[in-house]
Amino acid sequence: LYSSLPLSVPLTLPNGKIYQQPTGLFINGQFVPSFNKKTTDVIDPSTEEVITKVYKADNDDVNIAVKAAKTAFDNNWSTSDPEVRAKVLFKLADLIEQNSETLAAIESMDNGKSLLCSRGDVSLVSKYLRSCGGWADKLYGNVIDTGKEHFAYSVKEPLGVCGQIIPWNFPLLMWSWKIGPAIVTGNTVVLKPAETTPLSALFAAQLCKEAGIPDGVVNIIPGSGRVIGEGLCKHPDVKKIAFTGSTATGRTIMKNSADTVKKVTLELGGKSPNIVFADADLNKAVKNIAHGIFYNSGEVCCAGSRVYVQDSVYDEVLEKFQQYTASLKVGNPFDKDTFQGAQTSQKQLEKILGYVKKGEEEGARVIIGGKRHGSKGYFVEPTIFADVKEDMKIVKEEIFGPIVTISKFSTVDDVVAKANDSQYGLAAGIHTKDVNKAIAVSRRVKAGTVWINTYNAFHQSVPFGGFGQSGIGREMGSAALENYTQSDAVTIRTRKVIS
Ligand code: NAD
Repeated sequence: LYSSLPLSVPLTLPNGKIYQQPTGLFINGQFVPSFNKKTTDVIDPSTEEVITKVYKADNDDVNIAVKAAKTAFDNNWSTSDPEVRAKVLFKLADLIEQNSETLAAIESMDNGKSLLCSRGDVSLVSKYLRSCGGWADKLYGNVIDTGKEHFAYSVKEPLGVCGQIIPWNFPLLMWSWKIGPAIVTGNTVVLKPAETTPLSALFAAQLCKEAGIPDGVVNIIPGSGRVIGEGLCKHPDVKKIAFTGSTATGRTIMKNSADTVKKVTLELGGKSPNIVFADADLNKAVKNIAHGIFYNSGEVCCAGSRVYVQDSVYDEVLEKFQQYTASLKVGNPFDKDTFQGAQTSQKQLEKILGYVKKGEEEGARVIIGGKRHGSKGYFVEPTIFADVKEDMKIVKEEIFGPIVTISKFSTVDDVVAKANDSQYGLAAGIHTKDVNKAIAVSRRVKAGTVWINTYNAFHQSVPFGGFGQSGIGREMGSAALENYTQSDAVTIRTRKVIS
């Protein structure tokens, strides 16, 4: 538990490449050991072997990191020229691009996801950071007509130190969704990666330094959610908490942030419906519903985990879906044609297999999959459950793995009612050739994102976030900037001008 771990260790990636992995906390522009020198093991979920140790922060480190972030905010960053903020974000985006293969490999080694998925993540990271840089000189306020006696305007101001808590399913992508909009708007950041996946966040921290982001603007402290996540929520000098993760933890974060009345934004869970109408291009729809659930090993908050197929094509779709699923290669994330890698942790593996058992006990029928894949590494077979009823746990609860339920519907009203029968409202998919029907249904389905004849299609300019208990606030696009700015209204008494 206690060690004199070096602050950087050489690691060999599964593709044979050797690189230097930072292992310290990144505070005030330096990698440092944690205050109490505690460390934690980082496991490769494909091999179950320890990759390295990293330092593990405690609340002393939260205090040190928040102090550094506050000093950086007060001293220069909050009033820095927009051009300066744009420049460092553009440079950071370039550096991510230049290191994209290393970052993708780190991500696959640490999270278990296929290299195919990691490459997609890293590509969106650089695009998104560049997009954030572009906003720096476009953060406009308003001039407000209040009559002849006053001149009134409002400007957008940063919030201060932002505490950011991210999950393990998209470690680097969530890092960028948090850091980009925060620093372009003049805030400073203390970010906590998930316990199981700290490596890409620490590697990218050194790129922040190289990009010229001033010391203290970005601080990265791996550690426990219950300890330092909570510490960030309660710290009086942290003005905002941005969180991505489970709805249960989101609730705790809101409660813990209440005493200091922090601004809170949350990207939480989902149980997203994916709807196939009889008039859809069924071959394309099947590909989309498979990618909608099995992409990233199903560890996706917006995964299309409830598939609804119109009754007249149900049997045909089920057969095609089964065949397509059977063709997806599961295994070593680094193999060229692997579609689905490992689940992130043993905890997730057990949780997912527990749901398979529950589904069978509830009377649902496994069409394909349903078991652990192999005996080493946390792999799960892509699994389809048919004959499901709407009140089954596997239909109601977020499983966060490659498990999908499929059932029939008859009419638009029927499927809209089923789709909306959920506490969540993150995403939905609609497959049809009838654009009028697609638009009408998209307005009736309660979801922050609707994909029509596609799924999991992300773009840096399109806002993402949830209705209902799927969250508060939006990420990406101009909407993300709202999470990190506050309006300062100024009213000036004007002099009477005698003409
Ligand atoms: P989690 O929500 O508890 O963890 C996400 C992050 O929150 C991690 O960094 C964790 O350290 C931190 N955290 C945990 N407790 C905290 C607290 N009390 N205060 C502040 N931060 C805290 O998720 P988990 O336990 O790793 O996974 C459990 C389930 O959550 C998964 O099976 C899945 O269903 C869901 N999940 C959803 C998402 C998503 O993007 N929607 C992401 C991860 C997990």
